[in-house]
Amino acid sequence: MTKAVYPGSFDPLTFGHLDIVERCVRLFDRVVVSILTNPAKEALFSVEERCDMIDKAVRKRFPNVEVDVFHGLLVDYAREKDAQVIVRGIRAVTDYEYEFQMALMNRRLAPGIETVFMMPAEHYSYLSSRLVKEIASLGGSVEGLVPPQVEKRLKKKFRKS
Ligand code: ADP
Repeated sequence: MTKAVYPGSFDPLTFGHLDIVERCVRLFDRVVVSILTNPAKEALFSVEERCDMIDKAVRKRFPNVEVDVFHGLLVDYAREKDAQVIVRGIRAVTDYEYEFQMALMNRRLAPGIETVFMMPAEHYSYLSSRLVKEIASLGGSVEGLVPPQVEKRLKKKFRKS
């Protein structure tokens, strides 16, 4: 059985992330979308909110996908989960340098785990959670960039603040 972990902040989940998940389920028997909790990095959504948004988006559609939370070293976590693969999405060349460094460092730490890079559909290749948050915070529309349930939560968040 092939198992992949797809780690990230998912703050919040976008159609770019879901595009990668959709590609993953065609290749791997089991996919774990894993939210990295980083106390040093302030997030807009709590871990529970992020978990809930991902769960809502994948539960019915992809029965072989689970949502989980982790902290610490990614390779330790992947080993713990018995995953052979780490999946990362690559959007533009700008993603490449950092991802290349991480992949090779992770290989050094855990030679048995392979990093697989995937490209989303072109129309999602300029999409990031950061940009979505920025647009939403300024009252712009993020329709078509995130699932409707995420759109609602963004509106609520920024209405409050
Ligand atoms: P970001 O905050 O940069 O949007 P995350 O930390 O949530 O991203 O990203 C988790 C993973 O998903 C990373 O591998 C990232 O490259 C990938 N990713 C994020 N957005 C997209 C997208 N639009 N298309 C493809 N991959 C993406």
